[in-house]
Amino acid sequence: MREEEAHYDIAVIGGGLAGTCAAIAAARLGRRVALVNNRPVLGGNASSEIRVWVCGATAHGVQRWARETGIMGELYTENQYRNPEGNPYYWDQVVLDAVHAEPNIDLYLNTDVREVDASGPADSREVHSCTGWMMGSERRITFHARQFLDCTGDGLLGHLAGAHYRIGREARTEFDEPWAQSEADRSLLGSTILFHTKDTGRPVKFVPPAHAKDLSTTPILRNRILRTGDNGCDYWWIEWGGELDTVHDNERIRDELQSVIMGIWDHIKNSGQFPDAANLTLEWVGSLPGKREYRRFLGDYVLTQQDILQQHQFEDRIAFGGWSVDLHPVQGMYADGPGARQQYGDGIFHIPLRSLYSANVTNLHFAGRNISATHVAFGATRVMATCATLGEAAGTAAALCVAEGLTPRQLATERPELVRRTLLRQDASVIGIADEDPDNLARTARVTASSWLTRLAAEPAPDAPGAPYPLTRDLALLLPVDPALDTVDLLVHGAPDGRSRELTVELWGTGHPENAVPVDHLLTTTVTVPPDGPHWVTARLDHHPDTSRNAILVVRACTDTALVLLPVRTDGVLALRRKVEGDAAVDHDIPEEDGQLVVEWQARGLRRQSFAFRATPDTTAFHPERAVGGYQRPYGGPQMWSSGPEGDAEWLRLDWDDERELAEIRLVFDDDVDEYLNNLHRHRTPYEVMPELVRDYRVQSRDAAGAWHTLLTVTDNRRRHRVHTLEGADGGPVRTGALRLVVDATHGARRAHVIAFKAYGA
Ligand SMILES: Cc1cc2nc3c(=O)[nH]c(=O)nc-3n(C[C@H](O)[C@H](O)[C@H](O)COP(=O)(O)OP(=O)(O)OC[C@H]3O[C@@H](n4cnc5c(N)ncnc54)[C@H](O)[C@@H]3O)c2cc1C
Repeated sequence: MREEEAHYDIAVIGGGLAGTCAAIAAARLGRRVALVNNRPVLGGNASSEIRVWVCGATAHGVQRWARETGIMGELYTENQYRNPEGNPYYWDQVVLDAVHAEPNIDLYLNTDVREVDASGPADSREVHSCTGWMMGSERRITFHARQFLDCTGDGLLGHLAGAHYRIGREARTEFDEPWAQSEADRSLLGSTILFHTKDTGRPVKFVPPAHAKDLSTTPILRNRILRTGDNGCDYWWIEWGGELDTVHDNERIRDELQSVIMGIWDHIKNSGQFPDAANLTLEWVGSLPGKREYRRFLGDYVLTQQDILQQHQFEDRIAFGGWSVDLHPVQGMYADGPGARQQYGDGIFHIPLRSLYSANVTNLHFAGRNISATHVAFGATRVMATCATLGEAAGTAAALCVAEGLTPRQLATERPELVRRTLLRQDASVIGIADEDPDNLARTARVTASSWLTRLAAEPAPDAPGAPYPLTRDLALLLPVDPALDTVDLLVHGAPDGRSRELTVELWGTGHPENAVPVDHLLTTTVTVPPDGPHWVTARLDHHPDTSRNAILVVRACTDTALVLLPVRTDGVLALRRKVEGDAAVDHDIPEEDGQLVVEWQARGLRRQSFAFRATPDTTAFHPERAVGGYQRPYGGPQMWSSGPEGDAEWLRLDWDDERELAEIRLVFDDDVDEYLNNLHRHRTPYEVMPELVRDYRVQSRDAAGAWHTLLTVTDNRRRHRVHTLEGADGGPVRTGALRLVVDATHGARRAHVIAFKAYGA
């Protein structure tokens, strides 16, 4: 056995997606980081040991333009490229490679942290070190660090350090949350074990073990639907332990879950009710319960249900989510009602930095399922891509605390802009925050381009004539209004009975700029549609908002008429349709609540398509200036430069009045954050790389004589965010009065898109 002492700037305990992203974020900011995980595989509940699929703000496509960027975005897109079929072992390698790519991280797997050295009064504790036992290696390692992150999910590090936390559900009186209990209690979301089956190609038997549960003694057969084709996350409802202590009773919970899985499989194989299961066998059964909930630490702010549903715009927001408030009955699989209740706001929600550090431990951040949120709000923040963005934010904050000599509270309250600016510089996801980084010299440049897209339209072409889409329900188009929307022509099939129809067309605002649903009614007009057709008909809108914003053109249902649906993606535009009775729910096992605009107005099923339209006047939504000092993702408009429809080698250019010394550029390309990439379970995306992403490009500088010199050439790019060091002939920074980004090819899209072009001095 060995005793070891290890010294770091930052110790991240827990290697789920929150801890992994926290460690990567801190390491990229130059800090020496220990990443300590008590299991042999990174990824926590997402690992092949447990196999929960990574969901996030896109919420299976319910939310729009909501995929995470930053480190989670890199993991998603890398996984999509390497592993479009969602193999859980390939995913493990994607996560592991991302950690191995950071020379500043030392990874300690199989290392269970059980002891903490902390001191100070109860309201101002400080962690000095924590100690873990590396299983199989007989190494007892003490990690000394200036900042600690508890990303253990269960929150053992913080508990041992004396951090305040709670376990269980709040009383409604505390935060006035609509879904809170009348009395506080210690109930939780329960734990789950998943399993996978495979077809052996010939009949195979299953002899149940002695501990297999007789399902007829449970309410499961009455309340849950068993299907032979189900696998993995389809069985999320095999949940138990919400009325127990999900940590101290973990062994008992595992035994119960295992016995129910064997009982379910016995029922499927041997009850005679599933003849199509004859060839199926169990391929994999988890051996560790996936834990949903345990400690939730108390930070300087406790996130609530209202914050989620009303989309509270925190000054210190550092991440966002988009999952519904998703709570389960504490009885889990033995509950009589549905396995979950879910509710969305009108779009994504924001999370403040004050929910990511301890209110009473002066050098402790946390991220993941243990953040400072009520039980109800945790119902929305707990999905893993959201946990990952929280990890990136907490890791960034911890690194800045070390660099600036600040406590987490000082950083959050005195320097919140530093955290946001650093996150934006790294292309992390902070919604509605423009790049105001004074170090970004591009913000002082004139921005021009070879061309830019001015015409907002989707029109039939010989190879894409489109198809009638009946107006048996309300349909809509989300359009960027920049600066105005005078008219919209729609291509409409009239009635076959020889009579005209009056079409009601409305224009709606979206409320918050990040939303993509009709919230505020702006105007109504009517349009006459002649019979037969299709005909172009014109809706007069004369809409001139004070600031450029998306608006939603709603076409009300109208008998015997149809819009034309085209199989083309139109930049900055979304097609929507209103839910009608009989539409499939997002999750067939969960009833959908009424009055949720993101559920009522569906983008699902219409992505990368558009109703035929053409708008006037020309738009400036894709002006080259949108690529400098902008929001870095759709926010009230597309927020990017798009080249015009024609031309090779389109370019985007920065010009300064005097020469500048430039040492680094950062580029953000469009990888279509509307496409959701949750392929670790049943969702599949047809693209290994998003077609809009720039593939080949060059960066050039101009000399005093006006000649352009290529500084770097990139081919086969697969990354949204690229950082390049610029070197002049003397090895120092490049002196130039102009930079040019030349786009030689995309991964398939017709136009060049650039979301951000940034330049920094030495
Ligand atoms: C069955 C189930 C279904 C779910 N459904 C979904 C879903 O569909 N999509 C989705 O995105 N989310 C889902 N969730 C929620 C999600 O999995 C969790 O909220 C998320 O995993 C939390 O991430 P985390 O990084 O905070 O914690 P975890 O994923 O729990 O990771 C914590 C890590 O810390 C390690 N650790 C713990 N204690 C110590 C210690 N003392 N020392 C060292 N290491 C330690 C653990 O081994 C683990 O690797 C589900 C959860 C469960 C259980």
